[in-house]
Amino acid sequence: MSYSPEVYRAAEDELSRRRTEAEQRANALRARMTAQNPRIAELELMMRASAAEVARAVVNGGNVEEVVAEMRRRNETAQKELADILHAAGETVDNFAPQYSCKRCSDTGYVGREMCECFRRLLAEGAAQRLSRLSGMQLTSLDDMDLSFYKDRAAMQRLLDFCRSYGENFSPTADSLLFFGPTGVGKTHVSLAIAAMAAQKGYSVVYGPTQQLIGQMEREHFGREEGDTGELLNTADLLVLDDLGTELTGSFYQVSLLNLVNTRLLTGRPTIISTNLTPPELQSRYGVQLSSRILGTYLPLQFKGDDIRQQKLERRLRNQ
Ligand SMILES: [Zn+2]
Repeated sequence: MSYSPEVYRAAEDELSRRRTEAEQRANALRARMTAQNPRIAELELMMRASAAEVARAVVNGGNVEEVVAEMRRRNETAQKELADILHAAGETVDNFAPQYSCKRCSDTGYVGREMCECFRRLLAEGAAQRLSRLSGMQLTSLDDMDLSFYKDRAAMQRLLDFCRSYGENFSPTADSLLFFGPTGVGKTHVSLAIAAMAAQKGYSVVYGPTQQLIGQMEREHFGREEGDTGELLNTADLLVLDDLGTELTGSFYQVSLLNLVNTRLLTGRPTIISTNLTPPELQSRYGVQLSSRILGTYLPLQFKGDDIRQQKLERRLRNQ
């Protein structure tokens, strides 16, 4: 799974924030309690000194077992006294140590060399947030689709059922989808909802208007901006190219789009393309090479209906 450096950085920052907060809380408690009761500092010193004394006995060849037994007794007495003092103040010894949000990795993000589950979750959440920022839209859910705006509700329901199942069972080897139909009939809404479902499952998702994503690649290609958007688009577990066909097409754009579609097909990664163009329009605009790739390998899903924004507006005007 690959995430953008930005997503990694944000997740690492969050782990570091959690770690620091847990440590600061423990330190603050210790400082407060020690100020109230100087005996605490003495007891802690005694416990640390015990360990040093055992080490000294080992080095000097004394009777290690005897020293260890004596130290353990002293330690236990000191610990009990400390626990009593804290208990009387309504605190516990446990809170003297940092209470990390993740016990498995102590908020470091790693258990040994393995990435901890909490780090993975942060990455997935970060990817979902980045996704909504990129598109400039709120993440949507299939549950907020209002079927009353569709003349053929049964057809729309079937389409939604398919998309729900696609999202719920999403895997990085899922089929690629082509959403086509007129403006304002829910293509963007549904593709965002699927993208959110995949991101919530922990997959890397890149979502955006096609023009914006390819435009970003172009700026980086010609050195006007830093970044590796091309790599991100090629390797995301799911790529959603929204609104294909509304952009100004230049040769860089055409070639990049063809390369992107080809690369993802060859590596078996799913892409969802939404477009207002009909299949014949797709061909006349992008040429046979690209359109045949898309039409020949993507599952086509047709969205039918009248512009929902327009219908909502009309409903509001009628109700005034
Ligand atoms: Zn963890």
